[in-house]
Amino acid sequence: MSIKNIRIFGDAVLTKKADEVKDFDREIQQLVKDLTETMREAPGVGLAAPQIGVSLRVFTYCVEEDKPGHLINPVLQLSEARQYGDEGCLSLPGLVFDTDRSFGVIARGKNMYGEDVVIEGSELLARCIQHETDHLDGILFVDRLDSDTRKLAMKSIRESEWFGADAPIVKISPHETFGLSI
Ligand code: ZN
Repeated sequence: MSIKNIRIFGDAVLTKKADEVKDFDREIQQLVKDLTETMREAPGVGLAAPQIGVSLRVFTYCVEEDKPGHLINPVLQLSEARQYGDEGCLSLPGLVFDTDRSFGVIARGKNMYGEDVVIEGSELLARCIQHETDHLDGILFVDRLDSDTRKLAMKSIRESEWFGADAPIVKISPHETFGLSI
């Protein structure tokens, strides 16, 4: 089994820009396999490599049942038409918010063998591709919300039972800071 732990909001790997894949070797093929299996087990409609702790520009998706796909080093061309709808993320369990996205997308990149791939999609597939590509740039869907909705989202995050479970402990200096809160 190659099911990996999914990293949760607060993990530094989720806010880091992931590296381009240069070698399309067996390790990349194994990564795509691990992502696909972990996504199916979750279950989710998409999963990006940083979500399993690997900072590489790779994601998998499965919008149509039993038709999983993947894309490496994606470059997106977005439609001007917009869509608003529910969006969630496996790294922010239980949170769903209306999120503004482009209605359609043309995504160019590579498959795990280094061959050119073009994926054209709209609605959920387009939403998924934009969401997963954002992960590769260290962007989470809550970063895409308007400021009022984002405040609500941050409140839900703070109140969620998973929040802070793996977050780094901030040590408070015992010394007098003379009013500086840095
Ligand atoms: Zn996500």
